[in-house]
Amino acid sequence: MDTLRDVIIIGSGPAGLTAGVYTARANLKPLLIEGVMAGGQLMLTTEVENFPGFRNGIMGPELMAEMRAQAERFGAQIVQGDVTSVDLGSRPFTVTADDTGYRARTLIISTGASARLLGLPAETSLMGHGVSTCATCDGYFFRGRPIAVVGGGDSALEEAIFLTKFASQVTLVHRRQALRASKIMQDKAHANPKIAFAWNSVVQDITDTSKGEVTGMVLRDLLTNELRTIPVDGVFVAIGHTPNTSLFVGQIDLDENGYIKTHDGTRTSVAGVFACGDVQDHKYRQAITAAGTGCMAAIDAERFLES
Ligand code: NAP
Repeated sequence: MDTLRDVIIIGSGPAGLTAGVYTARANLKPLLIEGVMAGGQLMLTTEVENFPGFRNGIMGPELMAEMRAQAERFGAQIVQGDVTSVDLGSRPFTVTADDTGYRARTLIISTGASARLLGLPAETSLMGHGVSTCATCDGYFFRGRPIAVVGGGDSALEEAIFLTKFASQVTLVHRRQALRASKIMQDKAHANPKIAFAWNSVVQDITDTSKGEVTGMVLRDLLTNELRTIPVDGVFVAIGHTPNTSLFVGQIDLDENGYIKTHDGTRTSVAGVFACGDVQDHKYRQAITAAGTGCMAAIDAERFLES
């Protein structure tokens, strides 16, 4: 078992690394356990144009490397590895990662959320090169071009409506004939002349991996089994997110969708455990908001330790 620490941070996206910078500068000597998806969702992005401070944009992985180096500069100890279990029932809290046990007085959870994906090989290889899971991040790159959004929930419709500001046309691909989204979103989408609907359809393939860019998508009609190709320059996958909270089930209060419930800033239902970033936010999901809550969690942990 490792020495007792003031704070352990689980997860290394913008939330976790910002918490790392702040707790390190507060001299709390944080231990940050990176997780298998080190860097989080920004590692799947190419250019980030909306993170303040980078007027010419910055590549997602580069931004995360900068944040990591910044946390290390102030003394955050970063370990690779994935947390396999936590014990929040006794104090100090115990975190086990790759067979090593760590103990801490406070815990900052920043394990993020994962965008659900369709599972197509082309989707993986073209991610960040025309395939995206974030309209706010990437919509701007598709000015005047035809694109598609996959999904039929509020996220998909919100993204489709938002993307009509840039795209020449947005094709909404949904696997059923009825949308899951709220009535008001449905009405807005139906009223938007730039949105076309591909009902009862699933994406069978995305072209063209040999060119390294999106040129179209192959749709399969689930009623007729017919295939058709639609030329698009971008595909936004908006079929929901899964919060990475399986480690905490039964130990901390989660909402009905599995996100960690927070109150009074970043406090969770367990005193001394704080949550920040997408693991507790299904609404904003931005790198900058995640970083903001990471800062809040660090300050909340510091004040908890002082009291
Ligand atoms: P969601 O409500 O779970 O919708 C996911 C959509 O993706 C569904 O239409 C689903 O189809 C489809 N889908 C799932 N897996 C698929 C697959 N493998 N292939 C093709 N399609 C697939 O997720 P969400 O839209 O992200 O919303 C999550 C929660 O946040 C909801 O409670 C939502 O109301 C809320 N939200 C609210 C707002 C807002 O109020 N402004 C905005 C965004 C999200 P089926 O319908 O056939 O299952």
